[in-house]
Amino acid sequence: MDKNDFERPKTPSGNGFGSWWLYGLIALVIIAIQIWSFGTVEKNQYNSTDLETMLRNDDVERLVLYNDETLDVYLKPEKLKAWNLTPSKIPNRPNGTIHYPGKYFNDFWTKFYEKNPTVPKPRLEYDTRPNVLPTILNWLFLISMFGLLWYFVIRRVGGGAGGPGSQIFNIGRSRATLFDQATKVKITFANVAGLDEAKEEVMEVVDFLKNPKKYMALGGKIPKGVLLVGPPGTGKTLLAKAVAGEADVPFFSISGSDFVEMFVGVGASRVRDLFRQAREKAPCIIFIDEIDAIGRSRGKGMFQGGNDERENTLNQLLVEMDGFPTDKAVILMAATNRADVLDNALLRPGRFDRQIGIDLPDLKGREQIFDVHLKDIKTTEGVNSAVLAEMTPGFAGADIANICNEAALIAARRNKTGVDMDDFNYSLDKIIGGLERKSKIIAPEEKKIIAYHEAGHAVCGWFLEHASPLVKVTIVPRGVGTLGYAQYLPKDEYITRTEALNDRICMALGGRAAEEVIFGKVSTGAQSDLDTITRIAYSMVAVYGMNDKVGNVSYYGMSQEGYNRPYSDVTASIMDKEVREIIDVQFIRAKQLLTDRKFELETLAQHLLDKEVLLKSDVEKLIGVRPFFESESAKLAHSG
Ligand code: ADP
Repeated sequence: MDKNDFERPKTPSGNGFGSWWLYGLIALVIIAIQIWSFGTVEKNQYNSTDLETMLRNDDVERLVLYNDETLDVYLKPEKLKAWNLTPSKIPNRPNGTIHYPGKYFNDFWTKFYEKNPTVPKPRLEYDTRPNVLPTILNWLFLISMFGLLWYFVIRRVGGGAGGPGSQIFNIGRSRATLFDQATKVKITFANVAGLDEAKEEVMEVVDFLKNPKKYMALGGKIPKGVLLVGPPGTGKTLLAKAVAGEADVPFFSISGSDFVEMFVGVGASRVRDLFRQAREKAPCIIFIDEIDAIGRSRGKGMFQGGNDERENTLNQLLVEMDGFPTDKAVILMAATNRADVLDNALLRPGRFDRQIGIDLPDLKGREQIFDVHLKDIKTTEGVNSAVLAEMTPGFAGADIANICNEAALIAARRNKTGVDMDDFNYSLDKIIGGLERKSKIIAPEEKKIIAYHEAGHAVCGWFLEHASPLVKVTIVPRGVGTLGYAQYLPKDEYITRTEALNDRICMALGGRAAEEVIFGKVSTGAQSDLDTITRIAYSMVAVYGMNDKVGNVSYYGMSQEGYNRPYSDVTASIMDKEVREIIDVQFIRAKQLLTDRKFELETLAQHLLDKEVLLKSDVEKLIGVRPFFESESAKLAHSG
């Protein structure tokens, strides 16, 4: 996405390092002055032989040993000439220095006068002074560290790359990205597949943005806010962009979390700024993605103080939504996958009064999304969007876009001229199960267990009336810790009966049951199945009121701990017993089914061991088509 950070003033220096040259120069000048003022430039460096000559000739007036390491030499004025020196301009300057650690100097001094007792001794003093250069460097280091820290804090708070000074003033500005004439939104409804009802709803918004006068002449008020609710990747952002593209108006895009900052009042200020800019550009659309980041119900948190900033931001948003006049034609669109946590005030008429639910696409929807994305890809003859749609139950639009892209990349890596079905299969497997791990060696005995386990699920799914039919099973190890996976085609159902849940449990237990029927032993391979069935069984008893002993009660979302638990210990133990009972009954049922269908189980397992992959078409070839159940015929008759 092209980011167009509009109206963010550029810093005069163009980048953040402009002012650092200045700081560097100042530091250098300070160092130079310090060095000069301590007179190092005027001192001559001598060595111990020079010192011996000086002492022997009685040239020295005074010696000072500083810090037990540097010896400053003061010569007698009349002897300066002999050493080619002129009197110092600065009073009390030494005429030279010798680096002479005290230990060695004292040694030298004693021995010299032992050897030359007649030579007069100059005055010898010991003194200390601060070590100037290291001290300056230490200070400079500290100052520059502090400067750097300050620079990064300001950059972080201000956001973006700019000079350190300018960003702090930008903190209350909105971070929205603007798509307008320059960076026009080129997405239209043609790019959005499926979502027919949603498109119809927003069509009205488009029409309003195109001819606001038509609506206002009749006194109608167009909704100020449209809330798109649905799981991630289902095309909410895409739809909002398409509205802007169709209406040919500027589009401000921002995420809810962009309002939140560590400073109090920043979020509210950003909201004000965003609406001010939008009013200037009206008619236009503001799109806030993940609005739950700021729009959560107020005052429900345990720790009130922490939420103040978020609440202020939300209040400002509510005020702005009330405040902007309808004739300004600014429409707020927002997306979330958690409409249930949003504050009621946000949802009342006059604010987000229109809610559009966007679900995961069904078979037809997926086919249309594949059609949109396949247009950009060079495919070969056999690639069929209907078949691909059938292979991708439960996938969102974003997953489908990802599959198409992966397939194209794989085909390119394989040096093909077009993307074929094989590439799509590979990409699908990679996205569901992770990368194929050819190097992972599985012992034949283990492979056999995995094959029978998966075949057990497949047979149960095939012969149980309410179970989801199989799409594909593979026993190729993939990703981290995945030894195989099975994919099923979920039915388009919105409510589920007890029988269906029982069948689901039975099918999930099919893997473990197959292991027991064939090998007489069980393995750890069933862990995730057991996890699933435990959840289903507990929900049946404690949430859906599907158990006679516990009754028509639901403890959904209620505390399960201590005194807050809404049921007694007696009920708890009845629930445990009933859950165990449900699971036991279904396990026996799964074992019975697989014993009756042992031939089918063997056939599918052998095929899996040979080919590693089992498709629906393979199952049909090997054990015949799935039986047709009464309930399904009733459903068909009803819908027909
Ligand atoms: P959301 O905002 O719901 O999380 P996005 O709108 O960002 O999802 O969707 C991500 C991508 O998925 C889009 O850029 C697009 O490529 C693809 N996509 C999702 N839904 C559809 C759709 N209905 N038609 C075409 N492409 C879609």
